[in-house]
Amino acid sequence: MGEAEERVARALEQRGARAQTLVEKFPAADEPLRFAAGLYRAQAAVRLTADFGAFAEAVQPVIRFVASSGPPGVAADARTFSRDRLSAYWGGLSEFDYLSRAVLMPYARFLRESGVPPGRPEGPCKVCGGAPWIATRRSASSADGAMRMLVCALCGFEWQTARIRCPACGEEDPKKLPVFSAQERLGARIEACETCRGYVKSIDLTLDARQIPEVDDLATLSLDLWASEQGFERLEPGLAGI
Ligand SMILES: [Zn+2]
Ligand SMILES: [Zn+2]
Repeated sequence: MGEAEERVARALEQRGARAQTLVEKFPAADEPLRFAAGLYRAQAAVRLTADFGAFAEAVQPVIRFVASSGPPGVAADARTFSRDRLSAYWGGLSEFDYLSRAVLMPYARFLRESGVPPGRPEGPCKVCGGAPWIATRRSASSADGAMRMLVCALCGFEWQTARIRCPACGEEDPKKLPVFSAQERLGARIEACETCRGYVKSIDLTLDARQIPEVDDLATLSLDLWASEQGFERLEPGLAGI
């Protein structure tokens, strides 16, 4: 196994293990966490290659896992999955497609780790054009507070962004950028924008550095349901598909 392939497999296995750990801690989120644990394990086991066609041949185990263990809607979708969807999603020709994103995520990570340009249309992520599915706050070395980072849903690249700025429309007026959190999980919050009605979920890594933001996201889905009731739309759905 090459180094890039090993790094991708290790990152995916760590995420699966984190989801498994959280199952005990958050019984209410048992279902999405168990599914995420299995999905990461299936993704970690796919043979990686930079050749799109060869990779697309190797993804059947991921699709089978989703078909057998996914939430009902996604599972039904996996049973009728066709490979054409992968090229459409990769080429930026389709709208959000949960299954294609899940299938292509190890591939996008592998290309990034290998330094191979993915050849996708431009988008928020400067590496692969993917969209950010989660934000994080981590401590900065300077004295001016925490750094805000965005994490790409497809290739996993992280980039720093302004703390007071909507990642979707660029709004910078603090009065139009409300933040909502839940009493029981203060590290997770909704960073919304009243101008474009988009939001991103943010995880505070300064409170607990063991968190893996896109996995810990699943422990606070109630925040997403609440945001959606308020008419906000997540910029890029998380692992739970919302
Ligand atoms: Zn990316
Ligand atoms: Zn906005």
